[in-house]
Amino acid sequence: MTQSSELGYIRKIETMGMVDGPGVRTILFLSGCPLRCLFCHNPDMWTTKAGDQISVDEVIAKLKRYKPYYGKDGGVTFCGGEPLTQPKFLIALMKRCKEEGISTCLDTSGYGQVDTFDEILSLTDVILYDIKGLDPDKYKAMTAQPIEVTNTFLAKAQNYDLSIWIRVVIIPDYNDTYIYMDQLAEYIGHLKRIDRVELLPYHTLGVNKYETINMKYPLEGVKAMDKTKCQELEDYLNRKLGLKD
Ligand code: SF4
Repeated sequence: MTQSSELGYIRKIETMGMVDGPGVRTILFLSGCPLRCLFCHNPDMWTTKAGDQISVDEVIAKLKRYKPYYGKDGGVTFCGGEPLTQPKFLIALMKRCKEEGISTCLDTSGYGQVDTFDEILSLTDVILYDIKGLDPDKYKAMTAQPIEVTNTFLAKAQNYDLSIWIRVVIIPDYNDTYIYMDQLAEYIGHLKRIDRVELLPYHTLGVNKYETINMKYPLEGVKAMDKTKCQELEDYLNRKLGLKD
């Protein structure tokens, strides 16, 4: 068994997660994110060192304690922040998970160091991939980063034997339209390995966190997305994609 003294930063660990990937999962929140999504409800995760320093061996010891609950579908989900922000730590963790027979799921925006993508993807079983915009200008306005990096990540992911779940945050008067659903259907319809498409209703639970970092909330005045309408849009999109009758 590989021993690893590689250190990284984790903001929190949640056990018995049921929504971030298949089955029962332990969720590791890796701190650090180079994006600045207008709807971000975790600005306290942007700085890598906002997390607690921890070694790969310590994390794996914790995961092994919960392994009996994972069953055949569950495992660990790496989320953030943006887990691709700590590639060496992530790769070391994923390698150990593979050795221990723990399924790996990556919750990501697809933004990171391009030369690390192949190794990470080769160690990933499931990707929860966030689409934050299809148009380059709108993507940049939403995230403050160029779209090319995430497009490269998704293109590379097509070459690996893994399952992709797409996630899109739906914001009132921004992307809550059937026209956008048609555009998403066109884009997603050309991809391989898509097993699930979820629309996540925008919420305002993170607003107060901006006060603590002395920042104006970017979407001030925007109301939470109506959950029923969001579900209708999700049903429409999934029917178009043939993922739902
Ligand atoms: S990728 Fe996630 S953590 Fe990073 S800014 Fe966007 S919503 Fe926030």
